[in-house]
Formats: sequence, C-alpha cells, structure tokens
Amino acid sequence: MLGDWRPSAFEHAMHQFDEAARRLKLTENQVAMIKEPRKITEVLLPVRMDDGSIKLFRAFRVQHNIARGPAKGGIRFHQNVTVDEVKALAFWMTFKCAVVGIPMGGGKGGVVVDPRQLSVSERERLSRRYMAEMIDLFGPDRDIPAPDVNTGPQIMCWMMDTYSMHARNYTPGVITGKPLELGGSAGRKSATSLGVVICIKKAAAEIGLSLKGATAAVQGFGNVGSYSAKFLQDEGVKIVAISDVDGAFRDPRGIDAECAMRHVEKHGSLKGFRAADRMANPLEILEAPADILVPAALENQITEENAPRVKARIVAEGANGPTTPGADAILDRKKIWVIPDILCNAGGVTVSYLEWVQNRVGYYWAEERVNADLKRILETAFEAVLGAMKEHRVNMRTAAFMVAIRRVCEASEMRGLYH
Ligand code: NAD
Repeated sequence: MLGDWRPSAFEHAMHQFDEAARRLKLTENQVAMIKEPRKITEVLLPVRMDDGSIKLFRAFRVQHNIARGPAKGGIRFHQNVTVDEVKALAFWMTFKCAVVGIPMGGGKGGVVVDPRQLSVSERERLSRRYMAEMIDLFGPDRDIPAPDVNTGPQIMCWMMDTYSMHARNYTPGVITGKPLELGGSAGRKSATSLGVVICIKKAAAEIGLSLKGATAAVQGFGNVGSYSAKFLQDEGVKIVAISDVDGAFRDPRGIDAECAMRHVEKHGSLKGFRAADRMANPLEILEAPADILVPAALENQITEENAPRVKARIVAEGANGPTTPGADAILDRKKIWVIPDILCNAGGVTVSYLEWVQNRVGYYWAEERVNADLKRILETAFEAVLGAMKEHRVNMRTAAFMVAIRRVCEASEMRGLYH
C-alpha cells in the first residue's frame, strides 16, 4: 500500500525504477550502474536586466546516464523548477530513449525563472548565458538539449548560436527543436503528439475501442495537448474537454481542436474561449466522461485523490510524470490502460534524434519521411512493450521500464567499467 505518500518527482521516478528492477532481478552492481544520475551541475547565471541591474538565476543540467549515447533532453524555464524535478526528468529521458531504441542517453536542464516576467532581450541574454556557462557539458556527441516547458525554437537558436560562436564552427547538431530555417526537422513541432496518437491507436485496437465516435479530454493545450487533440479529431475522436493554465472547457457535442488552436495562437491561451462551457474546477477535466484522457500539462495531476473518479478507458501520458505512483495503482485496479510517458510522449525525442541525424549528414528530409520513420520506431517500441506486458503480466509502465532498463543495462555491461 502506498497510503498517502506524495513523492517528489525524483522519488516517483525511483519508485518506478525499483518496481521494474525487482521484476528483472537486477543485481546490486547493475542497479549501481544505471539508477542514479551521474552528473548534476548547478550554476547561478548572472544576467543584466533591461534596467541595468544584474539578476542571478539558478540553473541546472543533469546527465542521468550516457551508456547508450550522448545525453539528450530539454531545458525547462519555470519558476518552480527544482533540481529534484530535473533529476527525475533526466532519468525519464534515459529510459525513454532506450524504450524507443534511439542511441542516446538521458539529460535535462532547468532554469528557475518565470519567463513571462522577462523581456525578449532579457530572455535572450539568459538563454545565451545558460549555454556559455555550461558549454563544456554540451556538444553533438556529449549532450544535446532541446525545448521543454516555456522554451521553444527561438531559445534553441540563441543557444545554438552561442555554442557555434565559441566553437568557431556552425554546429546545428548541438541542440534540437530548432526552426526549419536553421537546421530544424520537418515534423518536429507535432512529433510528440503524433506519437501520442500512434500509441492511442494501438492501445484502442487492443481493447476493441473504435476511435471513430470515441471521446477524449485533453489537459494542457500547449504544444503536446493541442496537436494531440487535433490528431485525435482527425481520427474521428470527439474532443469533449480541453484545458490550460487559464481554465477548462467542455462541450459534450465536441470542441473543434483547430478553432481552439487558433484562439490560443491569437490570445496566448484558452482564456476567453467561448466555443465551449467553462468548467468551475479545471482539475475536473481529469474526471470527464471520455474514453480517452490525455494529460499533457505538468507532473502529478492524477493523484490518489482523483484517480478513483477517472472515467477514461485509456490514459495517454503526453506530459512527463502526470500520474503519481498511488494513482497508478488505483488506475491499474480499475483496469484503465495507462500508456506511460516514457513511451507515449517519446515521439518528440524520436524526431529530435532524426533532426540530429539530418544535422550531421547535412541533408534534410521531407515531412513524410520523418513521420514514416517516427511511426515505424514508435510502433516497434509499442509492440516490444506490449510483448513484455503479456510475458510478465505487468502493466504497461512496468513493462516499458523493463524493456528500457534491460537495454541500458546491456549497453552499460558491454562497455564495462573503466578504471
Ligand atoms: P507547453 O508549454 O507548450 O504547454 C503546456 C500547457 O500546459 C499549456 O497549455 C499550459 O497552459 C498548460 N498548463 C500549465 N499548467 C496547467 C495546469 N495546472 N492545468 C492545466 N493546464 C496547465 O509545453 P509542452 O511542450 O506541450 O509540454 C507539456 C508536457 O509534455 C510537459 O510535461 C513536457 O515535459 C511534456 N513533453 C513535451 C514534449 C515536447 O515535444 N514538447 C515532449 C515530451 C514530453
């Protein structure tokens, strides 16, 4: 029994690891080699503000494991980000790359800042300083960052430029999530969501749910949530509820995802969205009567408190860590199919990897090729995890970790321990 345990993000990650490691019967040495983050860097970034004052911003980069390739993972700008959270996110990246079989390890970065309080030039100076201050960590064969919450293509450009200026070399492969004009990949913007929907389609087929006429609720209407809603709609799913930081909206007759996207494009959020009814309590979206629930906002949204009221048949984790371990156990008992984050949202890192490949080859592919590769990689990963699920009679999260942990372990043992 997990009782009322409310773990930190990192404790949550460690719990997931232990669950899978126990079933895999890992030895103490194997656990020692792959469980904990290997390198944690914390710096204070001095940045000159527009009014001439200098402010210090706490920033992190965590490299969890690089047995299978260079560290890979986004940089988050958020006022509440902590080293604990970045450690958890880096951990998830290691196993996310492994579960989809891309040759990279896990990393993650964060800056404690509310970027909405900064001007564009302050944001630029902060982004450049982040890269400059920790430049030795980064490189196309060392550690390749990408966008995460509140960081997008422009910030990637500034960081890539800073790295390239120091290296005296144009180095697009140092960072992914760049715009198309500067070495980005076709299909990157919608890749995570395309992956989410590829996984939903496969899970729905397993439980005999037809997507045509099915219903979905989507929490978070940023990059991942909005495109997931759109792609689900393209499959014939009715979007009955959506939400973001400014509120939740429902309409049992269906909300047009593209109309909502246009609203966000114009107004910056769902605030003032009139095409659906505003819900009094935004968290109720998680309990909406819908076949599919896509949490695509932040961590720890589905908890022991609200999990008993979740009605969906499939929970597709677009966000990282949206379900607490206690809630996981409840959803499991209710036989709700949770497609775990490390598989469900791996489309983003998969196309980031394809972007990195294109940068290194210097030849760029059409979106059809990128999407076809993404589909092949994710479907193969889904099948491998499904196989482990059936073989070991475990839920999909534990199965995904078992597949991924085994791969990281094998790579680590093949490399051996240098001493
Ligand atoms: P984003 O900044 O584009 O969007 C985040 C969305 O969540 C926004 O609509 C925001 O308003 C909303 N939100 C914030 N707090 C909320 C709350 N309390 N209730 C409801 N909505 C809230 O970020 P994103 O890139 O879409 O990332 C969302 C999640 O997906 C994060 O957990 C991120 O780590 C994960 N993820 C993103 C990618 C990617 O490629 N972008 C890949 C893998 C995982």
